[in-house]
Amino acid sequence: MLNDTHHPGLRSWVASANAAGTDFPIQNLPFAVFRRQRSSEPWRGGVAIGDQIVDLAALAQSGVLQGQAAAAAQAGAQDKLNALMALGTAAWSALRLALSRALREGSPEQAALQACLVPQAEAEYAVPARIGDYTDFYTSVHHATNIGKQFRPDNPLLPNYKWVPIGYHGRASSIGVSGQQFRRPLGQTMPPGATVPSFGPCKRLDIELELGIFIGSGNALGDAVEITEAEDHVFGICLLNDWSARDIQGWEYQPLGPFLAKNFATTVSPWVVTLEALAPYRVPFTRAEGDPQPMAYLDSAANRSGGAFDIQLQVGLQTPQMREAGQLEASICRTNYRHAYWTVAQMVTHHTVNGCNLQPGDLLGSGTLSGPTLDQAGALIELTTGGKHPLTLPGGEQRTWLEDGDRVVLRGWCEKTGAARIGFGECVGTVLPARVPKG
Ligand code: MN
Repeated sequence: MLNDTHHPGLRSWVASANAAGTDFPIQNLPFAVFRRQRSSEPWRGGVAIGDQIVDLAALAQSGVLQGQAAAAAQAGAQDKLNALMALGTAAWSALRLALSRALREGSPEQAALQACLVPQAEAEYAVPARIGDYTDFYTSVHHATNIGKQFRPDNPLLPNYKWVPIGYHGRASSIGVSGQQFRRPLGQTMPPGATVPSFGPCKRLDIELELGIFIGSGNALGDAVEITEAEDHVFGICLLNDWSARDIQGWEYQPLGPFLAKNFATTVSPWVVTLEALAPYRVPFTRAEGDPQPMAYLDSAANRSGGAFDIQLQVGLQTPQMREAGQLEASICRTNYRHAYWTVAQMVTHHTVNGCNLQPGDLLGSGTLSGPTLDQAGALIELTTGGKHPLTLPGGEQRTWLEDGDRVVLRGWCEKTGAARIGFGECVGTVLPARVPKG
């Protein structure tokens, strides 16, 4: 799985890519869709290197690349990455290797590539794919247990949880890219102790720290993707915030599941990190003693030995008061994707086992990625135990749920001895006041 694009000693002629702590060293090479800010330039694909972007449209035109790598750059030059995603692993890998070689110190292609760079500081981003369908899973057993405890203290996990990767179909139209600002949703709620529902702005607005999985090549309707092939259908992983209106959710969700509590906004990071870039950070998928092993269709040797990923995650919160005082966001959660109960491969395989077709650019959410202890919880409903224990921020302000003007920043990165540190950049979203309903 590891090849010479992962070598921790590689250095780029783009100096910022060699800086300690950068999210985008030459070993990462994630994809986004971008253009220069305040321009009418066409949107096109790009690859991050240090604080720069390799413009795939310019690269495709330059004639520097050959064969499969050139075809992949051409596909990535469009306004969404769907065509590149549809090409499959061999094409993505060829482009990664060609870019890795061209961006290395001493590359004869330096001058040609230099002409294709756009500074990230001058760029704006779009949602990276035309997302046909969005499915949100529920793969953290810790999240499912924490939430379940609030409703069923003695029996928090429903009996299906350890057998079925639970998910629901979300909405693609309201997915926005980092920087998204959205209005606090209005809706129906049933206040505690009331006998008739109320209508008004959501009072329990929450975050969900998740990863997003972009599907690459799809499968035909009626066909299933075997677990041994599942990861070949995955283009890469981004950060995802699945904003949630808990009071609306509590009233509406039975019997068919989440609806308006979830579909008003979902924010993704612009950068999509490929599974190939994540190869050094694979970890075994294990099950606690006494838990059922996955059914045969959800089990494979590769999934057991390295189907999980060691991705560190953080949630930051910046209130308007902090912003005015020039304070950066405060960390309210640190956790890791390795604690998930189901893997990426299991999500893809389970989604298609009934013949459901996935298509290039489809998005899967991991579900809230809470870790084993409460400080590793990826949602306020867990961090505050259902709103009972507010968080105290460094400046002394308290938060139970999100307030207007609050800005939430998700970050993700991978690091360990013997491998290059790689990161996901940021996924930022800001809550705006609710719309005033027409009287
Ligand atoms: Mn979710």
